[in-house]
Amino acid sequence: MNFHIPTAMQLTATMTLVIGLALAFAMTGYPRALQEPIRLWVRGLLLLPFSFVLFALRGQIPDWVSIVVANTILVVAFALFMQALRAFNGRSKPSIALVALIGVTVVGEILLTYVWPTLNGRIGLLSTVIATMLLIGVHAIYRKPEAITRPEHMVATMLLIGVAILVVRAIVTPDTHLAVLTMSTPMQGVVFTYASLMPVIASSGFLLMCGERLNKDLARLATLDPLTGIFNRRTMAELAHKAVAASKRHGRALSLLVLDIDHFKRINDQFGHEAGDLALRRVVELIRGELRESDLFARIGGEEFAVVLPEADEASATAMAERVRLRLFNAGFAISGWPVELQVSIGVGSLGPEISDLETLFRHTDRAMYAAKRTGRNRVVSVSQLAAMAPEPGGQAHPDAP
Ligand code: GH3
Ligand code: MG
Ligand code: MG
Repeated sequence: MNFHIPTAMQLTATMTLVIGLALAFAMTGYPRALQEPIRLWVRGLLLLPFSFVLFALRGQIPDWVSIVVANTILVVAFALFMQALRAFNGRSKPSIALVALIGVTVVGEILLTYVWPTLNGRIGLLSTVIATMLLIGVHAIYRKPEAITRPEHMVATMLLIGVAILVVRAIVTPDTHLAVLTMSTPMQGVVFTYASLMPVIASSGFLLMCGERLNKDLARLATLDPLTGIFNRRTMAELAHKAVAASKRHGRALSLLVLDIDHFKRINDQFGHEAGDLALRRVVELIRGELRESDLFARIGGEEFAVVLPEADEASATAMAERVRLRLFNAGFAISGWPVELQVSIGVGSLGPEISDLETLFRHTDRAMYAAKRTGRNRVVSVSQLAAMAPEPGGQAHPDAP
């Protein structure tokens, strides 16, 4: 195969530049967490072509430009791609290893050009440096192995193919016949085919990765409460319906807690809305500490929460509610050094002969919660206790009702 290396380099440079410009133009307006990786990737794409142009001009421009500068640019571009993958997975600090590899390249290229000139030595050095960088990228992708998407596998595979090619190039079959970089040999053919495909395929993979992340974020936003990170009301309704159906199918118990923070408005009035938000987050953290993995926990209103406890009867749910109440009461929460009491009124209800669907369960449990408010707040009232209590004045559940 007659592979004209300078032509391949020119094509690769043009293609990479076009992709880089297209992405820089099109990929705006992404969420903040994705902006950094995208910016790094685009910078890599815009930088990479210059190294190919300088390589193609080997012999026509001074060696220090076509060798030292060109290889440095190449390595910096790869470092930017790998740093983009790291940033994609939440590591925004530049990798020391990547920076060190750039340093090794600069020093190595100078030594192997002017002190001990050897083309194969330089190729060996570059292959090792870039293969190591690609491995850093693969490691960044698989850092959280439980959430790997298909596009991520695709990019990782592309990087691993690169590692394999470069290892072969550096160690197993040194191109002993290679006199100049732009000479066409089978190994050079493989390397430059990869070099021209890599920016296209890896960039497509990277774009798909960003798309996938965006989808996931949107799905998460639609199911979770943004302030506290627990389920929102809609998700709770969906999941609770399923939990109730499963409990009925298997004849198992299921209980519900409805919690409302006492006098929450006072926290807002005294310390401001932000302090109120802080208190809400703290309350969620404290409640979560008492829950099991299988419990469903949601914010169903401003300072109102619900917990579905599968396989818990009313007695154990009441005991658990009491633990939650005490935990909040004894939390010792403070805002700017001022102690702030966290108290809740909790209603507890369970599925049973009279309560066989979610709507009825919520209605009764809500009533129990309001009974807790009415009878002094900072307490737990269960639906069966409620039945034994005196009827509510005026039959209205809400404690603030006139
Ligand atoms: P009660 O003991 O009767 O429940 O009294 P309360 O003050 O807790 O209840 P009320 O319904 O009078 O007030 C609830 C307050 O919760 C009013 C509202 O401003 C506040 N609130 C609702 N959502 C948020 C929020 O997301 N952040 C903050 N900081 N406050 C919120
Ligand atoms: Mg309320
Ligand atoms: Mg309240």
